[in-house]
Amino acid sequence: MFEALPEQGVPGAQILDELRELRRADLPTHGGRLFAYVYDPALDGLDELAQAAYAISAHVNGLDPTAFPSLLAMENALVGAAARLLGGDQETVGSVTSGGTESLILAVKAARDSRPEPATPRLVIPSTAHAAFAKAAHYLRVALDVVPVGADLRADPAAMAAAITADTVLVVASAPSYAHGVVDPIPQLAAIAAERGVRFHVDACFGGWVLPYLRRLGADLPPFDLSVPGVTSISVDLHKYAYAPKGVSVLLHRTEELRRPQYFAFAGWPGYTMINPIVSSTRSGGPIAGALATMRHIGDAGYLELARSTREAVGVLAAAVTETDGVSLFAPPETSVVCLTAEDPFVLADELAARGWHTQPQMSFGDLPATIHLTVTAAIAPTAKEFAADLAAAVAATRERGPAPVLDLTGLTPEMITPDLVAGLAEGLGLGGGDFSRMAAVNSLLDTVPPAVREALLTSFLSLLQRPAKTTE
Ligand SMILES: *Cc1c(COP(=O)(O)O)cnc(C)c1O
Repeated sequence: MFEALPEQGVPGAQILDELRELRRADLPTHGGRLFAYVYDPALDGLDELAQAAYAISAHVNGLDPTAFPSLLAMENALVGAAARLLGGDQETVGSVTSGGTESLILAVKAARDSRPEPATPRLVIPSTAHAAFAKAAHYLRVALDVVPVGADLRADPAAMAAAITADTVLVVASAPSYAHGVVDPIPQLAAIAAERGVRFHVDACFGGWVLPYLRRLGADLPPFDLSVPGVTSISVDLHKYAYAPKGVSVLLHRTEELRRPQYFAFAGWPGYTMINPIVSSTRSGGPIAGALATMRHIGDAGYLELARSTREAVGVLAAAVTETDGVSLFAPPETSVVCLTAEDPFVLADELAARGWHTQPQMSFGDLPATIHLTVTAAIAPTAKEFAADLAAAVAATRERGPAPVLDLTGLTPEMITPDLVAGLAEGLGLGGGDFSRMAAVNSLLDTVPPAVREALLTSFLSLLQRPAKTTE
């Protein structure tokens, strides 16, 4: 590892070589074999364009749009494009944030602060809503009412309605859910929220930039955006299906009045008056410029083509799952996710990784079994036809290998989890050397323990990894 603060500065070319060398240990962000974290349209020259745009605005500060009108103009352009794509009208306003989590925290904050009267403001979410809502509730001290989804994995309108109380400040649904890629019944839920006079947020962080195009291509999906009466806000991550570099999401509100409590203003100190629409104050213009360049270069027709490739790839992958013995589709592949079950999903995920396919294992949850999640992007289209053979081979290898050995951690409670215990466990599970390619034993173990124990184990493990580097030079 290199020294971040060497005694004498190091030549630029050497530093870039070192960075490229470091990146070699990462998952491949191109090549159409990565099914999580990274969204790749596989368009020639797009990386270079986005990087150049990013560089132009990297040092521009979004703190004060009167000082840097370039950022204000770019943000308004992005918000305008999102509003047009997502059923907005003349009244629609929005904000550019750093990502989906920030957009959701702000949707919850705006809802909370619009209703100062409840002593304990409450948030009603379906059990498949993204973890970022739990984070928002935690950060903002809002109580979370989690409503089990129906057998179809979708929010259950009657159960959601029953969960709304006088203290509910916001109702939430997903279009689609991240884990399964299915769209909640937005029109029904929006009508219920409107009738009760409660704000209703659609989390389209994942699918907001691909669903409109899938619908244009004829996919049988319900309306989900601001065109639906009762939807008061919607979020869409540009660093997902708009294919922008990381660090950009948009939060739209139906009206300026709904957005107002999202802002924070403070004049009570001797420095500048701080007016922040979003969580961060100083922020780079780089992601915003990168997103704008990406969006303008791809264009509406380009996104339609990318959605067509994505849809084709989903069809090919879903067919591979259906036709392979020992695995089956867990959720209907109606958007851009393929979610499958297997006899041993954790060993299977390792076997797929050994064949170059990087998937995302998902733990069991309540009645739901463990699954494997594939986020499908346009880059998968050319490689999708190679998946079936590797899937069949991976299933066979999984059977041959048998289940991963699982330590018995019954009786372990979060309070018992110390840094030493976790360091010992990590060593025993072969994670000591920083090789995270064979994860079946770890995932199988984590799947057997209660969620609170899993949280505590992984928190300690991450804390163990996140230690200051020692001087080596
Ligand atoms: C990715 C995602 C989020 C969180 O977004 P980040 O950009 O990772 O903060 C929220 N909701 C859904 C449905 C998502 O897919």
